[in-house]
Amino acid sequence: MSATTPPRRGGLPRIPREEGDDYTAEAVETRRTLLEEAVGRPLPHIGRARVPLESARGKIENLVGHAQVPLGIAGPMLVDSTLGAREVFVPMATTEGAMVAAYSRGMAILRAAGGARSRLTREGLTQNPILVYADARAAQEAARVVRASLERMQAVCAETTRHGELITLDAEVIGRRVVLRFVFTTGDAIGINMASRATDSCLALLASETGAQARYVHGQDVEKRANARALVEGRGRSVVCDATVPRELLGESARATPEELVAIQRSYAVGFAQLGTQNWTVQGANGLAAVMLACGQDVAYVTECATGQLDFDVTTGGDLYCSVWLPSLLVGTVGGGTGQGTAAECLDVLGCRGAGKAGHFAELLGAVVLAGDLSLMAAFCAHEFSDAHERLGRNRPPATAQDREP
Ligand code: NAP
Repeated sequence: MSATTPPRRGGLPRIPREEGDDYTAEAVETRRTLLEEAVGRPLPHIGRARVPLESARGKIENLVGHAQVPLGIAGPMLVDSTLGAREVFVPMATTEGAMVAAYSRGMAILRAAGGARSRLTREGLTQNPILVYADARAAQEAARVVRASLERMQAVCAETTRHGELITLDAEVIGRRVVLRFVFTTGDAIGINMASRATDSCLALLASETGAQARYVHGQDVEKRANARALVEGRGRSVVCDATVPRELLGESARATPEELVAIQRSYAVGFAQLGTQNWTVQGANGLAAVMLACGQDVAYVTECATGQLDFDVTTGGDLYCSVWLPSLLVGTVGGGTGQGTAAECLDVLGCRGAGKAGHFAELLGAVVLAGDLSLMAAFCAHEFSDAHERLGRNRPPATAQDREP
């Protein structure tokens, strides 16, 4: 029996699944055709063709080929965003069985609830270089000079980049060191190359003007590490996403009540407080890494991107209010690995390729994280988590003669 596409009842259709074997060429082709129709363009690289080797220039050295990660789609996901109400399929690259199904279920619940609302709340890529002086007195004097240099440094930055703009400049004294804080808007790129180049030029000038003994452009290195600044100040793009799920819908679709979800989230929060973690979502890193990998992002930034909080509450009407806040999304729709092959096609699937789309891409990531956390928490409440993984996500390799040896 071939996979069939369920009919559209307004908006995007449900993703077809084959009851028997859902991994046949026919089943995959059916879904890909549906996706091409939904996106309104062919997706040759997702479907068949290897990207030209030339497209790896500037992205890697010692190239030998392209690594392969399975790509699936979740959704449809309904989001009220700065671009209006949009319904999208969400490309996710992962090898964790059961994960795409879990995100898809969360998206279906949110869609039935009327969709999630997601908004960009702040933009600003920070760079925190360090200047070193003979003593604390010299460091304090230098910090005063730095704080008074915003306009001059803005002019220096404008020489190095068209889209990166220095918006604030601050300095803190730690002993005989000054930690500078440059904040840039970066257009639609992550902007780390443009910001570090601009910062380097400013730092050389400030170091020479203030008699610094040493300068370190990545001085207080927040890059690609969970850090306290990420939760308090945010870095890159910050997003808030929320939804209200009616009690009845939650019971029918996830066999959980709003009170159970609030109780489990509170229990997680107690555990997280003891850990000292900056990531108070439940599985934010999963969805973020899978979409980032599909969309040509620098996946190492998931360490910072997964910073954030999940919040559940019961509304006065007895329904579930749920929200996520992700203050440090280091993502872009221009530059880096976004322009080639499957990455460009996956950004097209989200309607997020190119200029003017980075903020919206961040908003969609907020909705993805909310969907995943809602689904997983509900599965924990209904004690369905292990069964789902057992059914969809086990990959026991066949025993070999070697395995059987004592
Ligand atoms: P990039 O690819 O280095 O730069 C983006 C380029 O696109 C710039 O040349 C920019 O021009 C141009 N551009 C055109 N239209 C734009 C638009 N609408 N918005 C923004 N830029 C536009 O990308 P990046 O985001 O700065 O850097 C990301 C890359 O850096 C990733 O590959 C990442 O892995 C790597 N990385 C670098 C460092 C580092 O410390 N340098 C650290 C970690 C990762 P203008 O500059 O003239 O505006």
